[in-house]
Amino acid sequence: GDIADRITRGVEGLTGSVSETFREPVVRLGVTGLSRAGKTVFITSLVSNLMDRGRMPQLRAASEGRIEASFLQPQPDDTLPRFDYERHLAALTAEQPHWPESTRAVSELRLSMRVRPNGFFAGFQGARNVHLDIVDYPGEWLLDLSLLEKSYADWSRETLDRLEKREIAQAYLERARAEDANGQLEEPRAKALAEAYTDYLNTAREAGYSDCTPGRFLLPGDLAGSPVLTFAPLPPIDSAHRRSLWREFERRFEAYKSRVVKPFFRDHFAKIDRQIVLVDALGAIHAGPAAVEDLRRTMADILGAFRPGRNAFLSQILMGKRVEKILFAATKADHLHHTQHPYLTALMQAMTREAADRAQFAGAETSAMAIAALRATVEETREHHGRELHCVRGTLANGKSAAFYPGDLPRDPHKLLGPARDGAEKWLDDDYGIMTFSPAKLSLRPGEGPPHIRLDRAAQFLIGDRL
Ligand code: GDP
Repeated sequence: GDIADRITRGVEGLTGSVSETFREPVVRLGVTGLSRAGKTVFITSLVSNLMDRGRMPQLRAASEGRIEASFLQPQPDDTLPRFDYERHLAALTAEQPHWPESTRAVSELRLSMRVRPNGFFAGFQGARNVHLDIVDYPGEWLLDLSLLEKSYADWSRETLDRLEKREIAQAYLERARAEDANGQLEEPRAKALAEAYTDYLNTAREAGYSDCTPGRFLLPGDLAGSPVLTFAPLPPIDSAHRRSLWREFERRFEAYKSRVVKPFFRDHFAKIDRQIVLVDALGAIHAGPAAVEDLRRTMADILGAFRPGRNAFLSQILMGKRVEKILFAATKADHLHHTQHPYLTALMQAMTREAADRAQFAGAETSAMAIAALRATVEETREHHGRELHCVRGTLANGKSAAFYPGDLPRDPHKLLGPARDGAEKWLDDDYGIMTFSPAKLSLRPGEGPPHIRLDRAAQFLIGDRL
């Protein structure tokens, strides 16, 4: 079974690369990030800007005029939901533009581009098709990789230790401690515990925390209510009875790993060539130092998933294949005046470098930048008590236009990256919290620049060399 499986996959891998050489190249681009990081907006904007050309000067193939056509085609995977590009684009370009519905599960979209070669081949080779298969999946699922190496007891202990330090977790902790884990399993109690733990995870996400496993508890899809999602961490006990709540939770935890986590990595993650990880760094900065601290740990976890050889299961399914490039992109940079962008970029770079060190990462080429897939603001400089304030102006949900000054980021990213100091300085003003801009109408008025920030640079890093 296993060996035959691996041989078949090896042969598929071989024919895959052969057909690439002689036929049409395929790039599989993974797009991930925690919920609300901006995946849906990113993919919609990327595809729209690749189809409707002229706004991506930093994408070399585009500025050199070598992309002759871009068009959507049926995707290669028949059983994967298709990324609902048209619906998301319709939301963003409506008479009253609104943000599309966010990513809830994995989906895919194939964009094919007709590209003329450059350099050496330009003279005697015609245009060829390059297929870009975009695979959108929740970052929460990626974090589940760490569960594969843990037993239910390990995971419970680590999770409860972490929860100790969090005010928002006290209600769940009390409940878990009061539970008789060695008592006989009763389904309503199991369900109540799982619900209480899920409530905690949701609150933690809202408070800006990223380390929220199991990922499917937040985005259950069609597994909602199934036994595989009906467990929760409990204080470890020495010897558990056969029919106890503890034993059953342990069994479900194992089932979660083998029936939910592994298939995702085998069927989707293992096939990715290039990866963008979208990060709502501004949201974390606004939430405070503890959330930033948590974010940098999460980035190391994510990079760890891309480190070939670290995880036995991953090495086995990847069979030497590896992701070639990974981009960490801070999203929603349009909330800041461009004079602040270098500091956001520096923060992302520092975090990425550090995550690479922590995860002992060597492999893919990594990069970090600050982007806005869809620019919802224009810049404005106002005078305030004799001082110039660099503001951004956008349209609020109520349709009114308003200018905000979100505050300054520290020039030295290490100020943000020091050890977590709860209650220490806050970096972004409260203004940041109320800046919920509606998407701007996609228009190109003179002097306003492209309707995105550095989306073209991101595309150049991710796929430029394949066009
Ligand atoms: P997903 O959960 O990762 O798919 O996140 P979405 O793409 O749905 O984005 C979540 C929310 O972030 C959106 O509803 C917007 O409010 C905001 N957002 C995402 N991208 C941008 C951007 O480029 N600029 C601004 N201003 N807001 C954005």
